[in-house]
Amino acid sequence: MPRAVVVGAGLGGLSTAVHLRLAGFDVEVVEGRDEPGGKVRRLREAGFSFDMGPTIFTMPWAIDELFSAAGKNPRDYLELLPLRPFYRAHFPDGLVFELSDSLSDVLAQVRRISPDDEPRWVDWLARAGRIYHLVERHFLDRLFDSWTDILEPRMLVAGMQMDALTSLSKRVARQFRDPRLRQLASYQAIYVGASPDDVPATYALIAWLEAAQGVWFPRGGMYAIAEAAARLCGDLGVRIRYGAPVERIAVEGGRARGVLLADGTRLDADAVVSNADLHHTYGRLLGETPRRHMDDARLARLEPSSSAFILYLGANRTWPGLPHHTIGFGPDFARDLREVFVEKRPLTEPSFYVCAPSVTDPALAPDGSTSLYLLAPAPAIAHGVRWDEIADAYAERLIDRAERLCLPGLRESIVVKHRYTPVDFERDYHCHAGSIFGLSARFDQTAFRRPAPRSRDVAGLWLVGGSTQPGGGVPMVVLGGKLVARDVVRHLPA
Ligand SMILES: Cc1cc2nc3c(=O)[nH]c(=O)nc-3n(C[C@H](O)[C@H](O)[C@H](O)COP(=O)(O)OP(=O)(O)OC[C@H]3O[C@@H](n4cnc5c(N)ncnc54)[C@H](O)[C@@H]3O)c2cc1C
Repeated sequence: MPRAVVVGAGLGGLSTAVHLRLAGFDVEVVEGRDEPGGKVRRLREAGFSFDMGPTIFTMPWAIDELFSAAGKNPRDYLELLPLRPFYRAHFPDGLVFELSDSLSDVLAQVRRISPDDEPRWVDWLARAGRIYHLVERHFLDRLFDSWTDILEPRMLVAGMQMDALTSLSKRVARQFRDPRLRQLASYQAIYVGASPDDVPATYALIAWLEAAQGVWFPRGGMYAIAEAAARLCGDLGVRIRYGAPVERIAVEGGRARGVLLADGTRLDADAVVSNADLHHTYGRLLGETPRRHMDDARLARLEPSSSAFILYLGANRTWPGLPHHTIGFGPDFARDLREVFVEKRPLTEPSFYVCAPSVTDPALAPDGSTSLYLLAPAPAIAHGVRWDEIADAYAERLIDRAERLCLPGLRESIVVKHRYTPVDFERDYHCHAGSIFGLSARFDQTAFRRPAPRSRDVAGLWLVGGSTQPGGGVPMVVLGGKLVARDVVRHLPA
């Protein structure tokens, strides 16, 4: 039986482990921390439960597929609750707009603020739906090793039809008259850690997949996905070793032969799949192994995705009518984007969002209480920014703004308070510059231009997760696990 070691029990790692096991491998996952899920992580205190990472769960079929592939019923592992509305967005001029799966509700709101834009919104969704289906057919079920893969005529045609040559912000500017609708149709680029100015208009597809496939919440919180995936691994006979940081990938004769743990244990393998960040894998885990392709200069050129500043707050009260997600757009969205992605400094008055998971699943907070998550986008770690010095003041400003936006009386109701900055992300998950989605999805790092999972420097080594193809985000890394396992099977010498 061929043997595989997966470094990291993030969702990408767990998904790869499942698929390799199904392909007949003996699989061991080695995780540095003491629990599964990576960035999908839970904090519990005084009866409150907080998801520390992702809160927006789209493309639920990508997770379900993991269980179905193993012949299991996904609903035996994970209960999914639909969110209605998906988000309530507040604009600085007082406009409140709810995005949901009800097209008529959304169109009624569009009509109220900009009648000319109503047919344009319909057209936008239809176009985004066409793009989504092209992406699903041509990009979500394969990996790209080199430029030549994209030069097939059908791929070139698909590339043109996917609106991949224009930026998302230019496309929305042409599509909508009302600037607030432009913002609503493009802010989703931040979900992939990039600015709408820097990603192809292809990413309009996110608007469609939310509208058509919904936004969901697993009962118990997003962490329930990690628990379910780890349980599936156990049911299939995949071993997961926790508290076992990998120190080195053992390379002999140009080929990965296993891993060396920090405690000196060596695990031999025919294939090593690293779920750790690309920079950590190449820059640290390969030690002195020569790297002609992914050398230090190339690593330095790769742009990390953005990071985040987050507050986890337990409040001893409720707010009637508070939705699961509230977005508070700041006074100047263009300045937000410039500060995060160009100037790389903490935002002056950031757009931010509030997630209140106990609104959907009351078990996540004590009776009469609310668990809250306030996230403001933050730049990846850059020189000169001292988060330890500014975090307290930043937190207070965010609480002030949340009080004004949708949580009156918040400050005096806080009974649990934690914060997380880009520096914490880098320390806890080894993610380069604190980036939360791996590499940015900007033009030159998306789709086939994103680094390929199969290493060109070391045979028998693959990467899976946010910093490789197909990209970052919960559904994408889970799909990536399937693609990488398939690639391992295809390329491993018999
Ligand atoms: C704050 C935040 C908000 C987000 N919001 C969303 C959202 O709303 N929707 C969405 O879809 N996505 C969101 N994401 C992104 C999503 O969480 C990630 O893209 C995804 O979970 C990353 O999975 P991964 O497989 O790349 O691995 P990771 O989660 O990065 O896990 C990698 C694992 O490898 C382990 N590891 C690293 N180095 C070693 C080593 N040397 N030895 C052993 N183990 C090691 C780490 O401990 C970790 O467990 C968010 C992320 C964050 C942080």
